[in-house]
Amino acid sequence: MLDIKKKMQELISEIEKHNYNYYVLDNPTISDSEYDKLYYSLVDLENESGIILPHSPTQRVGDEVLEGFNKKKHEVNLYSLNKVRDFSDLESWMKDMREVAKDTEFAVEYKFDGLSIVIEYENGIYKSATTRGNGVIGEDVTAQVKTIRSVPLSIPFKGRLIVKGEGMMTNKAFEEYNKTATEKLKNPRNGVAGAVRNLDPNETAKRKLDFFCYDLLLCEEKEFLSQKELHDFLVSQGFKTGNYFKLCGSLDEVVSYIEEVDKIKNSLDILIDGMVIKINNLAEREEIGFTAKFPRWAMAYKFEAMEVTTTLEKVDWQVGRSGRVTPIAILEPVELAGATITRATLNNIDDIKKKGVLEGARVFIRRSNEVIPEIMGLAEKLENSREILPPKTCPSCGEKLSQKGPLLFCLNHLACRDQVVDRISHFASRNAFNIEGLSDKTVSAFYDNLEVRHISDIFSLTKEDLLKLDKFKDKKAENIVNSIEKSKKIEFSRFLYALGIGEVGVKTARELARKFGNFESLLSAQMEDICKLNDIGEIIAQNIYDFFREEYNISEINRLFKSGVTLINEETSGEKNPNFEGKTFVITGTLSRGRSEFEKLILSHGGKVAGSVSKKTDYVLAGENAGSKLDKAKELGVEIIDEQKLNEMMK
Ligand code: AMP
Ligand code: ZN
Repeated sequence: MLDIKKKMQELISEIEKHNYNYYVLDNPTISDSEYDKLYYSLVDLENESGIILPHSPTQRVGDEVLEGFNKKKHEVNLYSLNKVRDFSDLESWMKDMREVAKDTEFAVEYKFDGLSIVIEYENGIYKSATTRGNGVIGEDVTAQVKTIRSVPLSIPFKGRLIVKGEGMMTNKAFEEYNKTATEKLKNPRNGVAGAVRNLDPNETAKRKLDFFCYDLLLCEEKEFLSQKELHDFLVSQGFKTGNYFKLCGSLDEVVSYIEEVDKIKNSLDILIDGMVIKINNLAEREEIGFTAKFPRWAMAYKFEAMEVTTTLEKVDWQVGRSGRVTPIAILEPVELAGATITRATLNNIDDIKKKGVLEGARVFIRRSNEVIPEIMGLAEKLENSREILPPKTCPSCGEKLSQKGPLLFCLNHLACRDQVVDRISHFASRNAFNIEGLSDKTVSAFYDNLEVRHISDIFSLTKEDLLKLDKFKDKKAENIVNSIEKSKKIEFSRFLYALGIGEVGVKTARELARKFGNFESLLSAQMEDICKLNDIGEIIAQNIYDFFREEYNISEINRLFKSGVTLINEETSGEKNPNFEGKTFVITGTLSRGRSEFEKLILSHGGKVAGSVSKKTDYVLAGENAGSKLDKAKELGVEIIDEQKLNEMMK
C-alpha cells in the first residue's frame, strides 16, 4: 500500500512539474504524448488500487454539477484599490507617501483585468477557492478553480497559506473557445466570470482559464519584509505572476515603466487595465494603513479604457460605392480612449444577429485599429429595445434591394445618387486621383446640377459648367479644372485604387501594380495569377478578375483613357519569368485582342518581340488565319504556341 502511494506521489510530482512548465512557464519540456503516458499511468494506478490522493491532477475536473454556490466568509477582508488616471495625481499620491516614508521604494505590477479569486492551501495541498464577492463574503468556487491548470494543486510550502490573484482568459484561449462555441463570448473578461461562476466545472475547464497571483493574504509562520520578497515567494511556490515586477525609487522611473507597458499592452496575451503601484516595504505599509475601502499604500493607475458601453440609438443604412448597403450604428455619444464616439460599424445582417444587439439597448463598443469603432455585443436590454430590421428598399434611390448571403445590395449602380457620389468621391480622393476640391458636397452638386453620373464625366467638365454651380466663382472653378487636368497623369497603383474594386485598398493596389507592372498584364491576368500575390485572398482575387470582365467597367476605363488619362507604370517586382527571359517571340494571325496588347504582355514578362521569323526566334504566337510567318516557322522548326499556351507560360 505504502509503495503504491509512494509511486503515485512520484508520478504526481512528475506530472505537476510538466504542468508547471507548460501552463506557468509556457515552456514544455516533453511532448504531449509523453505527458499523456505519464498521466494515464497515474489513472491506471488509481483505478487498480482504488486510492486517489487529494491533490491528484486527475481530480482537476470532477463530474458533478453543483446545485448552487455556497457563500463563504473571507478570513481576511478584501480591499479595493484607489485609482488615478493621470500622472499628476499619481505624483501627488507618491509625494504623500514620501511624507511618511522618506526613502520608500515602489513596486510596480500589472493590474490584471479578470475576476479576483482567493485560494487557500493547507499542508501544501489546494484546499478551497472563493470569489471576491463583496469583499467580506464570496462564493465557494473550489471545484471550478481546481480546473485551472496554472493553479498548483500542491506546493512546497506546508503551512496555511491564502493567496489572491486574478482568474484570466488569455486572448488565445478566448479566440480558440469562440471558434467552436455556439454562444460566443463577448470578451475575455466576461469569459472568465461566466466560467468561474458556472455550476458545471466541466464548463470552467473548457474555457482554459489562467490564474495570475499577486498577493498573499495569510502565510502561517513566515515573515516577509517586502512586496518583492512576497512576489518571489509566490513564484517559488509555482504560481504564475505574469513575469512583471519592477522596483522603482523615483516618480520618473514609475512613469516610464507605466508608459512602456501602455505602449505594448495590446500585444500582451492578457487584458490589463492599468498598473498597480505599491509601497514595497511592508513595515512602512503598516504605518500608512487603510481607509475603510482601500489601502492608502497602494494606487492603481488606470489606462484609458479601450471598451465602454453606451446606448445604440438607431441603425442607419448607408449605400457605398459598390452598391453595398451597410448598417451604421448611431450611438449616444461616449468617451473612449480620448475621443467622443458617435458611430460604430455593424458589418452586416448576420453580424447583427450574431451579436444580438437591439436598437435602444446598451451595447459594448471597442476601439480597434480601424478609424470607426466596432460594436462587440449586447450589454443590457432596456425597456424600449427593439429588433433591428434591415431595409427592403434602397435608402438612397428607393430601388428594391437584393441580398447575397448576409450582404444587401442596391443594383441601381448608375442612378443611385449616394452610390455615384461615393464612387466619384473615392475616385478623386487623396490616394486615388487626388483631385483637390472634390468634396462629397461638391460631387453631390455635380450630380444634381451637371448630370455627372460616371467617373469619366469628371474629365469633360468645363469651367463654364462649374460656374453654373452655387458659390462657384472664377477662381474656384479654375482651380478645380486645373486640378482635374493635372490628375490625368497618374501612377498605375493609384489608378487601380481609384477604380474602387471591391476590397482593393491602397496596399493591394500597390501590390497589384508592382506585380503586373502595367495595365495590360493585369487585364489579361487569370484568377491563378492574381491569387499568387501575397495577401490577396480568393475573394479579393475574384473581385479583381470579375471587375475587368464587366462591360461597363471596361468602357468606363476606355473613356478615361480617351479623356487623356495616362498611366505611369510602376517598377515590376523584378521577378523574372524564365519562360520569357531572353526569349524572342513573333506574333502572327488574329488573336482575341490587339497585337500590341500581347506585345506588352511579353515584354512585361521579360521577353522580346520581333517582326519576322528567323532562326533566332524562339516562339511564334499564332492566331487564326496566320499566313507566311507561320509557314516560315514550320520550315525552321520554331515552336508554335497559341494564346492558351502563352497564358500558361506566364504563370
Ligand atoms: P477595480 O476592480 O478596478 O476596483 O480594481 C481593484 C482590483 O484590481 C482588486 O480588487 C484586484 O482584484 C485587482 N488587481 C489586479 N491586479 C492587481 C495587482 N497587481 N495588485 C492588486 N490588485 C490587483
Ligand atoms: Zn440605390
